[in-house]
Amino acid sequence: MCAILRPIAAMQRHDYDLFTIGAGSGGVRASRLAASMGARVAIAEERRLRGTCVNVGCVPKKLLVYASHYRDDFADAVGFGWSRVEPDFDWATLIAHKDAEISRLNGVYGRILAGAGVEVLDQRAQVVGPHTISVGGREVTAERILVATGSWPDAPSIPGAELAFTSNEAFALPRLPRRVAIIGGGYIAVEFAGIFHGLGVEVSLLYRGDLFLRGFDSQLRRHLAAELRRRGVDLRFHADPAAIEADGEGRRVVLKDGAVIETDAVMLATGRRPNLHGLGLEALGVELDDQGAIVVDDHFRSSVPSVFAIGDVIGRAGLTPVAIVEGAAFAATHFGGRPTKVDYSQIPTAIFSQPPMAAVGLSEDDAHRRYGPVDVYSAEFRPLRHTLSGREERTLMKLIVDPATDRVLGAHMIGADAAEIIQSLAVALRCGATKEQFDATIALHPTVAEEFVTMRTRRVSAPE
Ligand code: FAD
Repeated sequence: MCAILRPIAAMQRHDYDLFTIGAGSGGVRASRLAASMGARVAIAEERRLRGTCVNVGCVPKKLLVYASHYRDDFADAVGFGWSRVEPDFDWATLIAHKDAEISRLNGVYGRILAGAGVEVLDQRAQVVGPHTISVGGREVTAERILVATGSWPDAPSIPGAELAFTSNEAFALPRLPRRVAIIGGGYIAVEFAGIFHGLGVEVSLLYRGDLFLRGFDSQLRRHLAAELRRRGVDLRFHADPAAIEADGEGRRVVLKDGAVIETDAVMLATGRRPNLHGLGLEALGVELDDQGAIVVDDHFRSSVPSVFAIGDVIGRAGLTPVAIVEGAAFAATHFGGRPTKVDYSQIPTAIFSQPPMAAVGLSEDDAHRRYGPVDVYSAEFRPLRHTLSGREERTLMKLIVDPATDRVLGAHMIGADAAEIIQSLAVALRCGATKEQFDATIALHPTVAEEFVTMRTRRVSAPE
């Protein structure tokens, strides 16, 4: 306790011990924990509490994914004896219900912060000195400033980009378009393709590269592309937009090869950049990397010793749980007397596509780069549920194993509940589980997940 109180007593020369800019996933966690450790904390938020994830990211996205899945459920039910229905869908109802849930969550986080003793300022903040912040027309000082301002959609500089919407607006479109062209090849593009398609919109996904979802296992990326095409998503690779044009109420995407896609709306999902505009960090001399992210050390300290940063602004993982863990490590290190580093290995990730895809650990290509030849075990099959639903959807599961140690290096899956299953396997991989231990685990039958403990056919996979 003394170890915590002494440094805080020495900090009293400033208005606050910690001033956090941005009440998103990382900022809220860091501020709340620092306050619970005795620090005097203020947090500034210019939009809504809990930032991107709760307002225009993970949470509303997942609610929309659930909504879009009912289309499959209604269709699949017929094979199980239910009568065929042609249900109506109302976008306005979905958005109203989603908004009510988000407002409820905003309130929960407001109460959590207040309960922890954090002063919440509903204003934009700017850094004007190593210890000085301008907020709401006044200047305040803090021993430490934490920048947790997240990221922002990055639009390509093509004519007509302003005619498109981004994920920021996607959750509040006034009406559902009949057709949409989504530009991008990352997870946000793919997830929205599934959401809009499931809600009955004709979707074209345009990506300039060979194959979307760079960084994920190539076999799974190909499998997902085939599944999306089978469902009727118009998936176009090597499709590089040159311009977006208005055509009355409609839109036209002109590609560099001259092809034209007629549509009703265009969504840009072409990446995100650290949200540092107008924050004053460059004038202060805070070092940024070539992606515009704040460079920090293992304890989130920037090149200006009193300025720290966590979450999407440091450009490490771009995921909510990572921002939260960084916030907790920051608080423990600087206010709890427990220097804590974040281990970025084996972060489970998911694409909430239809079907969903998830992974933890290394892809086959990454495993080659790190280990040379590896053993691969995989299973591709039509799940039991679809024997009656009649849906031609195939599940793919895959384990990558280090032949020298028998350790499982990566687990990958496309199919129903992939994210839920991979979350559990992430524990096993973190514990260093071997293939022998997977094999010794008794299957839970009949499940899809049991394939992970029953795959026995080995393929030796060598780098090309
Ligand atoms: P944020 O949560 O973005 O919070 C930053 C906050 O700072 C914002 O509230 C902003 O208003 C505020 N701010 C900025 N500048 C100022 C200023 N000058 N003054 C005051 N306040 C300011 N991650 C997952 O793990 N799983 C998912 O399924 C997932 N889905 C996503 C879907 C979409 C469509 C998007 C866009 C993101 C998704 N993410 C997902 C990513 C996740 O939302 C982010 O990684 C996470 O929110 C980053 O947290 P953060 O604290 O760094 O920033």
